[in-house]
Amino acid sequence: MKITEILNSSKPSVSFEVFPPKTDAAYDSVQAATKEIAKLSPSFMSVTYGAGGGTSKYTLNIAKDIKDNFGVESIAHLTCVSSTKETVRSRIDDIKAAGIENIMALRGDIPEELVGSDPALWDYTHAVDLVHELKSSGADFCIGGACYPEIHPESKNQAEDIFYLKEKVLAGVDFLTTQMFFDNNILYNFLYKIREAGITVPVLPGIMPITNALQVQRAVKLSGCFVPGRFKSLVDKFGSDPEAMKQAGIAYATDQIIDLFANGITNVHVYSMNKPEVAQKICDNLKGIIK
Ligand code: FAD
Repeated sequence: MKITEILNSSKPSVSFEVFPPKTDAAYDSVQAATKEIAKLSPSFMSVTYGAGGGTSKYTLNIAKDIKDNFGVESIAHLTCVSSTKETVRSRIDDIKAAGIENIMALRGDIPEELVGSDPALWDYTHAVDLVHELKSSGADFCIGGACYPEIHPESKNQAEDIFYLKEKVLAGVDFLTTQMFFDNNILYNFLYKIREAGITVPVLPGIMPITNALQVQRAVKLSGCFVPGRFKSLVDKFGSDPEAMKQAGIAYATDQIIDLFANGITNVHVYSMNKPEVAQKICDNLKGIIK
């Protein structure tokens, strides 16, 4: 099933993200966690490609497992900036052959060895190049793209970011998933601005349940996202008590999700990061809403 079919439904739902193992030895534990999350019957599950230190070689295996063996629709992420055209084309062929219908088309972070070199020499410079590649592959993929309510760290300003976002959508992106954010008003403002700019595809808000204090620092460093005072005081108060921090972080994320549903959003993507117990608690908290 294409993710857009899920996103166009008016029924509230959540989807979860998992990342591939960092080592071969960790494959079984990631597979077990993925299976547990799939048992919660999310609307779909996404599998990252080399993000967060995970390797990229298992993305497809895990996405196929989720779809074929755990009975949940899946989307495989794919990045392009650190790859040659040959590699990307062969990955696309493999994804198609595996029967995966959904691809998250990403640029990826620029690897150290490319920093300072001439982008004209790279096979791919932006995610839009990958979207063109997918469109010319002859396969009928549902294509997702990333977007940044608080602008991408490399962008000069939001107008420029939205200009390129529109270019990516016009190239063939069917839906967008947002970077994490901790203040829903930032998302509502962003939605207003992109709709005004003529971007009409579904936008899936991405929510990160922060379950330990270190994760906040990492999240802020990675995305540059704004941390509201209410969230800061929660980390100050509970950050040194793992159990309390986990409970408070899940409650905060649940609160954000409920507010999104209350304001007309029907699908929310949760960065549950291979933690079935976090995914389970979020689902329990939403039991009466996601029926
Ligand atoms: P792009 O859309 O190419 O945008 C990157 C920057 O370039 C932006 O500033 C944009 O405004 C600008 N830009 C875009 N097009 C042009 C153009 N034509 N000319 C000039 N400037 C342009 N990373 C991973 O490695 N693996 C993953 O699985 C992964 N999953 C992600 C999922 C989501 C939902 C999000 C939000 C991010 C994810 N990332 C992942 C991180 C992502 O790869 C990085 O944020 C990366 O730096 C940008 O990727 P992008 O696809 O948004 O790039």
